[in-house]
Amino acid sequence: MTNALTIALITDDYAPAVTGVGVHVQKTAGELARRGLRVVVVTSRRRGQPAFEEKDGVRVHRVRCVSVQGFAQALPLPGELKTLFRDEGVRLVHFHYLGLMMLAGLRAARALGLTTLYTAHMTVDLLVQPLFMRPFRGLLTRLYFALLERLDQVLCPSAAQAERVSQFTIRPRVHRVPNPIEFAGGAAPGPRIDDRFTVLYVGRLGPEKNLGLLLRAFQIFAQKHPRAEVRIAGEGVMESEWRALAKSLGIAEQVHFLGRVPHDDLPRLYAACDVFFLPSVKEVLALVALEAMRCARPVLVTDRIACGPELVEEGESGWIVSADRPEEAAERLARLAADPALALRMGERGLARSRGYTLAAVGDQLEKIYANAVAPTPPPADLETEVRARRRGVCVFCGVGRLDEEVESRVFPAEVRHPTEEFFRLWRCRECLSLHAAAEVPTAEFEKRSPFLRRRLNFFNRRMFAGFHGFLGRLGVRREDALLIYGLRADLFKTVFEQRGQFPVDIVDLPMPGGLLASPPAKLHDVVVVMEYLECAEDPRPVLTFAARQLKPGGLLVIHTPDAEKIKLVPQESHRLYQPHRIHIAGAGILQRIVEKHGFRLRTIQHRNYMDTRWPFVNYRAFHELPRWGDGTLNAAIEFRWTHLRRAWWRLPWLVFLGLFGGWRGDRSNLIAVFEKTHDAAD
Ligand SMILES: [Zn+2]
Repeated sequence: MTNALTIALITDDYAPAVTGVGVHVQKTAGELARRGLRVVVVTSRRRGQPAFEEKDGVRVHRVRCVSVQGFAQALPLPGELKTLFRDEGVRLVHFHYLGLMMLAGLRAARALGLTTLYTAHMTVDLLVQPLFMRPFRGLLTRLYFALLERLDQVLCPSAAQAERVSQFTIRPRVHRVPNPIEFAGGAAPGPRIDDRFTVLYVGRLGPEKNLGLLLRAFQIFAQKHPRAEVRIAGEGVMESEWRALAKSLGIAEQVHFLGRVPHDDLPRLYAACDVFFLPSVKEVLALVALEAMRCARPVLVTDRIACGPELVEEGESGWIVSADRPEEAAERLARLAADPALALRMGERGLARSRGYTLAAVGDQLEKIYANAVAPTPPPADLETEVRARRRGVCVFCGVGRLDEEVESRVFPAEVRHPTEEFFRLWRCRECLSLHAAAEVPTAEFEKRSPFLRRRLNFFNRRMFAGFHGFLGRLGVRREDALLIYGLRADLFKTVFEQRGQFPVDIVDLPMPGGLLASPPAKLHDVVVVMEYLECAEDPRPVLTFAARQLKPGGLLVIHTPDAEKIKLVPQESHRLYQPHRIHIAGAGILQRIVEKHGFRLRTIQHRNYMDTRWPFVNYRAFHELPRWGDGTLNAAIEFRWTHLRRAWWRLPWLVFLGLFGGWRGDRSNLIAVFEKTHDAAD
C-alpha cells in the first residue's frame, strides 16, 4: 500500500456506462488516478464482468446487483463494503448514486469512521417525475434531506443547487463542483459555413424539457426565415407529442427529429448549428448548454432554470428568455440570424466561459476538497463561507438559541403557488421556543405575488373583519378611538371597520414589513393592531418598537400572530405555516417578555384566530380545508371558485361540517395578545 490518499467512488453505473453519471465517474476516476490518488471504484457487476479488475490505474470492484427498469441497482452483501474499504485502506468514500449501495456504504463508512462525500447528480424533482411517484414527493424530499444530513460533504454541480442544499442541511459542508465536459474530439470547431440558419436542441425528450416553447418560438421566427430549421437530438416519452405539435404549427418540414445521437458525434452537431436552445424548465446543471458553449455557439436558456445565470451571461454569451413567452425567444433568434458577427462574438464568449468546466479544472477542485476533507481543520470553501454567513444562525427574539446540529428543525415545502417548487427549513430556538427560517429567502420577490395582495372584500371577508372588530369592542375599544392597523391589505379592515362606524382608522399596508417602517404615521393612536405582520419581518423587533411608539399611554397593542409554542414541526393538516413568508415566529412566552420590556403590561393572550366567527363558513378551519379543492396552495383558498368543487367533491361533507361548526372549536395555533401601554413607558 502506498502513502497516497485512497478514495472509494461508489456508483451503481460505471464503464461501460449507460448513464450520464456513469460516464462522469469514469472520467473523474481516470483523472484522479492520473494525479496520483489511489482510486477504488465500487460498482454493480453485470453478466460476464469480473469481480475485480485494475484499469488505467483505477481499481474496480463489482458487487452483485439487481436490475430495476433497465437500471442496475447494486446490492452488496452485508459487511461486504466494510471489508472492502478496510482491505483497500480507504479514507474517503465518495457517493454518486442514490440507492441501496449508498445506504450500505454509509453504514460501512460510519462503522470505520471514514469521511463521506456525495455528489448530488439527481434532485428530488427528477426522482418524482414519473406520475406514479408524484404523491411521494413530500416524503422523498424529507428522506433525501435526511440522507444528506448523514454526509460530511455534499458536492453540487451548480452554484444555485449548492445554495439550495446548504439552506436545507445543517451538517454537511456544501461545495460547488461542476460536472466536467469533455468531447472525444476535444478542440472547439470554427464558424459555420452553411447559410441555413439552424436551431439545435440536444437532450432527453422529457416533459420538463419544454420543447413546446422552442417549437412555438421557431414558428414565429420562421415566418420571416422560411429556410431556417430545427434539429432535435434525443429520444423520450414526449417525442410523438412534439412531432404532432410541430405538425399542427405547420413547421413539420423544418423540424428534424434526429433520434439518439452518440456522444462522440455531438461536437459535429453543435458545430453545425447557429444557436443552441435549451427550453427546459428544470435542470441541475445543463451540461448540453455547456457543451454547445465549448463549441463556441450562442445559447438560449429559460428563466425557469436556477442555473441559468451561471451558464449564460445575459446578452454576452446568449440570453435567458421567458419560458412562457415564445415571442421573446423568437426575437432573439431573429437577432442572431440578422447579425452573424454577434453570434460569433457570443460563441467566443461562451467558449471562454466553458473553460472552467474542463476535466483538469474539475480535477484540481476535487483534489483540494479531498485533501481538506481529511485535514484536521479544513478551511471553508468560498461559497460555503458566504452561504453560512448569510444564514440566520442566532434567535432574533432571545439572542441566545442558535441553529446547530442538535436543534429541532424540518424542511417544509412552499404553501403558495409561487414558488411551489421550493423548500424551506424552519428551526426552533431551544431557549425561547420561537421558530426561524434557516436561510435567507428573497421574500420581497414572493411578496409581490402574495395571494393576500389579491384578496378582495366579499361576504366572507366582511364577516371575518367584522368579527375581529367585535372582538376589539369586547376589549373596550370605542368607536371614536383612533386605530392604527399594521398588516397586509389593512385597507380591507379599514373599509369594514369604517362601515361599522369606527373612526378614524389609519393603516400601514406594506408588502414588506420591517425594512420599510422608516416613516411611521405621525400622530398617536389609542389602539395599534399588528395583524399577521410580525412573523413576516426580516427583523421583528423594529416592528414592535415602531408600533409601540404610535400609541398613547394607556393605549392597547393588539398582536395577531402564530404561536410557535403551539406549532409542531410536523406536516399537519390543522396548521399551515404559510412558508416562505413567515420568517420569525414568536411563542407566547417570548412575545410577552419582549413587549413588556418596551413598557407594556399584558392584558390577555387568547389562542384564537381573527378568522374565527360563529358565522357559517367564516372560520379558520374551513378556510384551511379549501387548498385541497384547488391546487393545494393557499392561493387556491383565497381565490376559491366553485369550479374547484370538481376536484375534491367527496370531501364536501367535511367542508360543510367545518363550515358550520369549525368556528366553534377555533384555531389554537394562533394567538391574539393584548398589551396596555403603561404611563411611564419609555419611548
Ligand atoms: Zn430564542
